[in-house]
Amino acid sequence: MIVPLHAGVALGDLQHLGRPEAIAVALIDTGDGLGLVDPGPSSCREALEGLVADFGARLDDVRHVFLTHIHLDHAGIAGSLAQATPRARVYVHERGAPHLVDPTRLLDSARRIYGAEMDRLWGEFLPVPVDQLVVLQGGERLSVGTRRWRVAATPGHAVHHVAYLDEHVGVVFTGDVTGEATQHGTPALPVTPPPDIDLEAWRPSLDRILEWRPESLFLTHFGEVRDPHRHIEEMWKRLLEWSDTVRASLEHPGSDDARADRFLEEQVDALASGLEPEQVKWIEQDAIRSSWFGLARYWRKKLAPPVVPVAAPVPPA
Ligand SMILES: [Zn+2]
Repeated sequence: MIVPLHAGVALGDLQHLGRPEAIAVALIDTGDGLGLVDPGPSSCREALEGLVADFGARLDDVRHVFLTHIHLDHAGIAGSLAQATPRARVYVHERGAPHLVDPTRLLDSARRIYGAEMDRLWGEFLPVPVDQLVVLQGGERLSVGTRRWRVAATPGHAVHHVAYLDEHVGVVFTGDVTGEATQHGTPALPVTPPPDIDLEAWRPSLDRILEWRPESLFLTHFGEVRDPHRHIEEMWKRLLEWSDTVRASLEHPGSDDARADRFLEEQVDALASGLEPEQVKWIEQDAIRSSWFGLARYWRKKLAPPVVPVAAPVPPA
């Protein structure tokens, strides 16, 4: 079932692994065929087909696939859609584009994380034919059918992350850079998985989005947020708190797994104290745990002593 949000813009729930409100896709009537923002992983193909049918279209009507970034939960099915529909275009930041053309490295590193679960979680990830890519840098104005869109580079969650503003309806499609929130009144939470969390780059990305003065944000996890300023500042405050907590945890004895488990437990306890039990079940615990690893990697890189080149010893004369 789709939820119409604005003229020609609807939200679809991909029901990832049968779980409601995990991954959202935006369906757009562009006036030049169907547009999808972050079409999701191939493991949600059937759900995507159903949502597109509810929107009055078919998968081969897809002409524009707008990716905020290339993580598997957002972009996994992009190559399959492109290969099946040669007229479809896939929009992606220039630093993500090479990994869509040749996903070998992307998939190798995902396989290290997900192991045997990889196929069940995400399904296949096919390459996007290079001539179907629209490569973005940020700062573009796009004319897509009857719609006028703007693009901003929004690194922080991922180095190649972008956000899109639909100028007519004032919605910014923010992928993961504005974190996650549910439709159940749970707080704005950061999403900081490895490998390229960058807090210095992150705040300017949020400011770039706020400068557009959006009416609302469309979050992949999950849905529309109608108070962009409050949501973004709440997410950012929590991100700084998490960052401090993770940095301090690196001093504690024990394994990374133990540190991440403790972080998860502390955060869930802190969040739960202000929520109804019904709301607590909507907090995505896996994402909080993996956020420890992303922030730990960020701090270890930042705190590592600089590598000083050592002069070769001068041989005795
Ligand atoms: Zn995501």
